[in-house]
Order: sequence, then C-alpha cells, then structure tokens
Amino acid sequence: MIADRLADVRRRVAQAALDAGRDPADVRLLLATKTQPVDLVLEALAADARARAADPTLSAVLVGENRVQELVAKGPSLDGLASLHLIGPLQSNKVNAALRWASCIESVESLDLAERLSARTSSTLDVYLQVNVSGEESKHGVAPSEAVALAGAVAALPHVRVAGLMTVGARSDDAAAVRAGYALLRSLRDEVVAAGTQTATELSMGMSGDLELAVAEGATLVRVGSAVFGARPR
Ligand SMILES: *Cc1c(COP(=O)(O)O)cnc(C)c1O
Repeated sequence: MIADRLADVRRRVAQAALDAGRDPADVRLLLATKTQPVDLVLEALAADARARAADPTLSAVLVGENRVQELVAKGPSLDGLASLHLIGPLQSNKVNAALRWASCIESVESLDLAERLSARTSSTLDVYLQVNVSGEESKHGVAPSEAVALAGAVAALPHVRVAGLMTVGARSDDAAAVRAGYALLRSLRDEVVAAGTQTATELSMGMSGDLELAVAEGATLVRVGSAVFGARPR
C-alpha cells in the first residue's frame, strides 16, 4: 500500500538524518511521479495528509514531474494539494506551460533558460540549478566548474530566486563514488552562498536507492519515486 511505503520512506529519511546528526525536519520529501497515474499521486497525497494530521512535525510532500506534458496533464487534479516542481529538462518553447503549474523549476542548466523564465514571470520564481556531478554524458546539468558563475548570473535576474542546487547522482553500485558526487554538490552550494547568493541553501539530491547517502551529505530535499509507487508503468 502506498501509505505504508510512504511511511517507510519517511522512516528511512528520518533515520539517515539522525545518523548524520541532523534534524529530520530539515529534509523534505518530493514524490517523483513520472509515468504514474494521477489517481496514485492523489492516493499518496491523501496518505501524506493523514500522516501529517497524526504527526504535525512532518512537512508536506512536494510533487515533481519530469516532463512538461505530464505536468500539464496532472496539474489540474493536483492544484492546491501540493507544490509542483519540474525536475526534468525544460525546452524554451514549453516555458509558459511549465510556469502555469510549477512553483519551482529544479532543472535550470543555462543562463538562457533562466532569462526566459525571469522574462515570463511577474513575481518571483524559485529555481534550482542542476549540476552534473557525475560527469555522465547522459545526465543533464551544468558542469561543476561552471556552477558558481551560473548561480551568480541567474541570481542577478529580476524575477528568479536561486533556492539551491539539484543533481541526479551517479548511476553506480559504488556507494563511495555516489556519495562523493553529493559531497561535491554540497561544497558547490557552500561556494555559491559564500559568493553572495545567500538564498541558495537547498540541496535537492538522493532518490529511492541512495537517499541515505544524500542525506548524510546534507540533502534538504530528496526525490523519491519507485520506493513509494513501486515500479513505473511504461
Ligand atoms: C525518476 C526520478 C527520481 C526518482 O527516482 P526513483 O529511483 O524512482 O526514486 C528522482 N529525480 C529525478 C530527476 C527523476 O527523474
């Protein structure tokens, strides 16, 4: 059942935080809902609401979609029930559609995209800069060596606020290698803040298989799909 799996994930996150000497309340959970039917997402949100009624210290789960098309399809059903983040690549011709539903774009990887977002937002949009910490060619994100400069440039735009950094960890069974990538994102976040972008405190990193490593390295948002929803339908 989704409620049990969600509770399991909450326990894993909390235990990882305690093991790292951190406050479990400092790590939020984002449900990565790609390819999942909206009914299952609603079931997870209802389970989360019940869990929070029983334990008011819990913060609400967020919902993350990878594709703008799915964001647009599920947005009307989820509106008002959860904050929606875009966690996948955003093409410039889909900026308006994404902004209709997403309160945060976690996948900003160029100044060009950030400029388009800023130009089409009237108030202030939260963004995360996606960094490719593993260097894997298949992965999106700016190179680690470019992250600090990009953050400074994006932070200077009028209608976006750099809330933090995001990464998809290395696809590897080598826990030390995965963890090193998360440590790199944390040190880049510290550099970005030290260089003057003090809003950039968040670290969105860790998924179903490796969230403990990410929490140990300072994740403030873990993005979990299969551990809550089971295997993804194709
Ligand atoms: C699918 C996905 C996740 C969640 O992956 P799971 O292994 O199913 O937990 C997290 N982040 C991004 C960007 C994803 O695409």
